[in-house]
Order: sequence, then C-alpha cells, then structure tokens
Amino acid sequence: MSTCIFCRIVDGSIPAKVVHEDEHTLAFDDVSPQAPVHTLVIPKRHVAAVQDLGESDQALLGRLLLTCRKVAADKGLAEPGYRIVANTGRDGGQTVFHLHFHVLGGRHLGWPPG
Ligand code: C5P
Repeated sequence: MSTCIFCRIVDGSIPAKVVHEDEHTLAFDDVSPQAPVHTLVIPKRHVAAVQDLGESDQALLGRLLLTCRKVAADKGLAEPGYRIVANTGRDGGQTVFHLHFHVLGGRHLGWPPG
C-alpha cells in the first residue's frame, strides 16, 4: 500500500470529499480549509512536486489547470475571482509531497502571502 496520503485518496483507501474526477486528475476539498472554498487538485499519478515535472508532462499540467478552472467555476468563483497556489518544496511551504494545486476563494485574499 502506498505511503503517500494523496495516492491513498486516489485509490480510495482514505476518504475525501471528491468534487471532480477524470482519467488523470482528482479534486477534493481540503480537510483544513483556509478560505470558504479550498479545494485541492492533484494528478492521479504520483508526482512529488512541480520540480519533478518534465517536458512530457505538458498535457497533464494543462489538464490540472483546466480542472482548477472547472472547480472554481463549479464553486461560483469565476466572477469574484480566486487563487491557484502550488506550494513547492520546504521554503514554499509544501507539506504533502504529491503535487497539488490549491484552489482558494470565497473571500478577498491578501497579497503577498506570508
Ligand atoms: O501545500 P501543502 O503541501 O502544505 O498542502 C497540503 C494540504 O493538504 C493542506 O492544506 C492540508 O490541509 C491538506 N490535506 C488534506 N487531506 C489530507 C491531508 C492533508 O486536505 N488527508
């Protein structure tokens, strides 16, 4: 069994509130939401971080961003706006080493982040 928590969400052995699924991506609500809408979009295939993507991942990256766009639209964020974040590595604040995009919205989001 995988030790990666997000791979275990993909295989269904850890529950999550899934809001979108297709052949290559999965989206589920974050267990510790930092905004009224806080959903994570991940590739089903294990990729640790943005740094581990290569030229052959162009289609996957496009699919991930289109899934972010769909999640945001489905959650009513298209007009007020939202933020897509990929924390990368230790200084980037990444804590789960399976690539994920945070889709955050439903309130005004400050800038710059801490
Ligand atoms: O960017 P970072 O790696 O810190 O984000 C990991 C995110 O995964 C956190 O927002 C955390 O709340 C979320 N998480 C989750 N479900 C889990 C474990 C972590 O939504 N089972």
